[in-house]
Amino acid sequence: MKIYLSVDMEGITGLSSWDEVLKEKKDYCNKQLTQEVKAACQGAIAAGAKEVWINDAHDSGRNIDFAKLPPNTKLISSWSGNPLSMMQELDESFTAALMIGYHSASGTETNPLAHTMSSKLNYLKINGEPVSEFIISAYTAAMFKVPVVFLSGDQGVCQEVKEINKNIETVAVKEGKGKSVISIHPEQAKDNIKKGVEQALTAPLEKYQLKLPEYFKVELSFTAQAHPQAYKASFYPGMKKLSATKVLFETQDYFEVLKMILFVL
Ligand SMILES: [Zn+2]
Repeated sequence: MKIYLSVDMEGITGLSSWDEVLKEKKDYCNKQLTQEVKAACQGAIAAGAKEVWINDAHDSGRNIDFAKLPPNTKLISSWSGNPLSMMQELDESFTAALMIGYHSASGTETNPLAHTMSSKLNYLKINGEPVSEFIISAYTAAMFKVPVVFLSGDQGVCQEVKEINKNIETVAVKEGKGKSVISIHPEQAKDNIKKGVEQALTAPLEKYQLKLPEYFKVELSFTAQAHPQAYKASFYPGMKKLSATKVLFETQDYFEVLKMILFVL
């Protein structure tokens, strides 16, 4: 069993401010991030995983303390420029995918660090629904028919996961309220993640499979200050300008959506 693990940081327990998740800030703290990733690896190994590939997919892509992880892991750090982005190197050879530290979408109030791909977006809608990075990554996994079986993060994104497929195991490690977060204890988070991953991987995997939509209408709404970026985006091949801050991209091919996101955001 070969497992893929996509890691973000805004959905790690205890973290509430950009100062704690950006490497260049003095309050930056990656200790618990590494611990939650380690717990997920331990859960996967307990379920029979022989190999775990981990993508450090937050900001610089250099947040995980690799030496603290089990030896049968591979780490993808920094960004290659491949449109698969937070799911780089994923292919059909993986048995299942896990997500750690994921967070609520732009336009929601369930995490003070809520955003989707860029802080310049009010929302990113796919087929009329505002989506989070979970959906973007889960559709990438669906392209390769790899089931996403587990996600940990804030309560808002966990709820979004359940609305898409109630079988996917989730562990909510915190709840956002205004600028604050109410978190569970770091040890509890580790324990819940390890158990949740093991449970998710020992169940029949067919129940987790997501169906990729056949057609994609992707609407990007930029913030008022980011109108120059909307203008620039309107020149991307196939892009339609809806207003000073909104653009629309339509395609049947999800990889084209990922390419557009890479070049436009
Ligand atoms: Zn992030």
